[in-house]
Amino acid sequence: MPIRTVVWGENVHEQKNKVVAGVYPKGMHWAIADALNTDSGISASTATLQEPEHGLPASRLAETDVLIWWGHAAHGEVSDEVVERVVEQVWGGMGLILLHSAHFAKVFKRVMGTPCNLTWREAGERERVWVTSRNHPIAKGLPDHFELENEEMYGEPFGVPEPQDTVFISWFQGGEVFRSGLTYKRGAGNVFYFRPGHETYPTYHDANVQLVLKNAVHWAHNPAARIQDVTAAPNVPVDMALEPIEERGPRLHHDGEEGFR
Ligand code: ZN
Repeated sequence: MPIRTVVWGENVHEQKNKVVAGVYPKGMHWAIADALNTDSGISASTATLQEPEHGLPASRLAETDVLIWWGHAAHGEVSDEVVERVVEQVWGGMGLILLHSAHFAKVFKRVMGTPCNLTWREAGERERVWVTSRNHPIAKGLPDHFELENEEMYGEPFGVPEPQDTVFISWFQGGEVFRSGLTYKRGAGNVFYFRPGHETYPTYHDANVQLVLKNAVHWAHNPAARIQDVTAAPNVPVDMALEPIEERGPRLHHDGEEGFR
């Protein structure tokens, strides 16, 4: 069965800005989904901020293997309920790929637990993306480096935890560098942050970028059954201990009690 992938798009710039609408007539989310669907191992659909529950009801997330997230202008409009729902699915094994300005998405900040801040400049400068983890599945088929003629600059320091793997580092014409491809494990979920993708440039039409995204979907996919009770914290009564034990000392809680959170 192909990897069931949902490309979540904020879909705000495409509706308000003529340049963005010109580069991505169907929206960035569909440009990404269409590219992914050229891979027979991937089945990609889209969801947007404007749909009920942002297009991510629990029933749909339960049938999503990998979720891709592009957000920028409306991070604050994403409901906290949907954020928690997404994060719990990631802990349970759903893959999560965050693109470009999703570094400040609620979902990313929640799974990173750090400020996720960076330096930036919008000057259409050249970005050179270097592969720093050779033979990493996300870099499969890529040259040692590739260029994007016009991109927004993101620079270090990038306020994220130390990653599992740094797959890419970007150099920018103005001199800054940035860790632009980072992998994490959160619970049973594989998480990948990929930097390129400023809305006014045709980045998601670039063949190398599309290859990274396809590779990333395959890498992020966890084929094991989703963990259903991922936040459960059950009390184990004395008489249920695996080895017989005798209760000692005073206690606060009753057997089987839910406990505090
Ligand atoms: Zn941008």
